[in-house]
Amino acid sequence: MAGADEYDVIVVGAGHNALTCAGYLARAGVRVLVLEGREDVGGDTATEELTLPGWLHDTCSSAHVVIQSNPLIARDELDLVSSYGLRYLVTDPAVVVPLDDDDSLVVHPDPARTADELGRFSARDARALLTLLEEWESGLRVAHAHHQAGLDLSDRDLARRYERLRARSAWEVVHETFEHEAVRQALMWLSFATIQPPRRPGTGALPAAIISGRIRSGWTTPVGGSRALPDALVRQIRAHRGDVKCDAWIERFLVDGGRCVGVETRDGRRYRARRAVVSSAHVVTLDRALDGVSTAVAAAAARWRPGLSVFAVHFALSAHPTYPHATGRRPAVAGALGSPAGLDRQVAAALEGRVDLSDPWILIVDSTLVDPGRAPGAVLKFLTIAPELHEGRPWDDAATARYAERLLDLARQRVAGLDDAHILARRAESPTSIAAHNLANLGGSCHGGEFHLDDGSIEPGWRDVRTDVAGLYLTGSTTHPGGSVSGRPGRNSARVVLEDLGIDPSGVMSTP
Ligand SMILES: Cc1cc2nc3c(=O)[nH]c(=O)nc-3n(C[C@H](O)[C@H](O)[C@H](O)COP(=O)(O)OP(=O)(O)OC[C@H]3O[C@@H](n4cnc5c(N)ncnc54)[C@H](O)[C@@H]3O)c2cc1C
Repeated sequence: MAGADEYDVIVVGAGHNALTCAGYLARAGVRVLVLEGREDVGGDTATEELTLPGWLHDTCSSAHVVIQSNPLIARDELDLVSSYGLRYLVTDPAVVVPLDDDDSLVVHPDPARTADELGRFSARDARALLTLLEEWESGLRVAHAHHQAGLDLSDRDLARRYERLRARSAWEVVHETFEHEAVRQALMWLSFATIQPPRRPGTGALPAAIISGRIRSGWTTPVGGSRALPDALVRQIRAHRGDVKCDAWIERFLVDGGRCVGVETRDGRRYRARRAVVSSAHVVTLDRALDGVSTAVAAAAARWRPGLSVFAVHFALSAHPTYPHATGRRPAVAGALGSPAGLDRQVAAALEGRVDLSDPWILIVDSTLVDPGRAPGAVLKFLTIAPELHEGRPWDDAATARYAERLLDLARQRVAGLDDAHILARRAESPTSIAAHNLANLGGSCHGGEFHLDDGSIEPGWRDVRTDVAGLYLTGSTTHPGGSVSGRPGRNSARVVLEDLGIDPSGVMSTP
């Protein structure tokens, strides 16, 4: 393996996926160097003082639910929890869905209690929830894990059952499975948590996957904020002779004799990789940096679209907001606003470049309720979608402020504690500013966008980790299975790279 200043593998970018990939490689004895273009690691798992000094906001992601089913965390394969300081909190409630002035539907990290709650509205829906969860546990969950890992299932019947479910739309599955409006509202809202258009074929597994995740793990919150994950990964990489350097934006990939042998930064520094380069740069950025060398990356870039873009508002509040409930008002880490019909209108409009905020999907996150060390008050975030451009142009400050104000007006109708007296500071982020903050969020897309394939299907991530340039591999949210804090693209790429380096991945990871 490589000497002190030489690296076997260079990993481009230090979002959680690139770091996950590097973490597995380092654990397998490969000497890795991670090069991040920004001044700090984390990408969309950043935690920063966005409003006031001493108030730590999650710039993008807050919920680390999806990654809980990844063996990276579920089996603590890299010892991030046992040895490198990563700590997760399971929240109860998982999410609160305010219905009117006096009541909310509450999802708990517990199937029986959640079914009881649904039973307040419909006994049939309570049974339907338990059936959905049982079916998921009786094989579909394993099939989903294989799909996320990009691995084939040996059980062909199970694979077909899963593909039949996945081929449907989240909208159909929720509306056929549940009958009561309040239950549909809660479960449709949850099914949109990974920001996939709910009527799109191919989203049919999302309701069961997302609902079961929330019912198992609540609104899983990393102690210290989203950046606790990349920080733990950096500690793990360094403990295994790896290096992580920031302020190193990679503008060129060095290709010699058809093989990727290293990278060059914007300011001209060159780093050589003896065995491979793994890039988490957005496929469109990578395509430009490769200057036509790779037809495979060019093909991926040509098929990429931003998909649904996101809009966030960060607040510093003097106290935790509260939600209505039959048993009295209560605070919650996660609140859910917006009816299925409102979401449907909002998504249809956003896909056409229009705004529809008649009854939008809004996520309200108050991580400080369970992690009070992050601020002297409540750090709150609204998340919703918005068209990439506002009236055909990049979002300006005035349009951004108006959009944020409308979201606040709507939230105030259901949530107490959002009046001006409680708001100490706020900062709104449009798709334009979210894209400027992290250049991997091209088009303001929060989940790596999507790929429009020749057969008419739309996939959230590019399937191939290998490229047609020897020694060059892809990872990050533009690779399968796409965005979210899942660690899946990072782990999947590590498996492929290890195989190609002749190192048995089973030494560091189980299957799937
Ligand atoms: C507002 C918002 C809220 C979200 N909320 C959630 C949530 O609650 N839960 C959830 O699961 N997901 C959420 N997401 C999505 C999730 O955060 C992302 O999909 C995920 O973090 C992407 O991780 P990544 O490692 O693939 O890429 P990124 O986090 O984007 O990291 C890529 C890194 O690579 C660096 N890089 C790129 N190109 C280069 C280059 N050429 N040279 C050097 N460095 C480079 C970038 O600077 C960046 O640091 C949210 C996203 C947004 C925007």
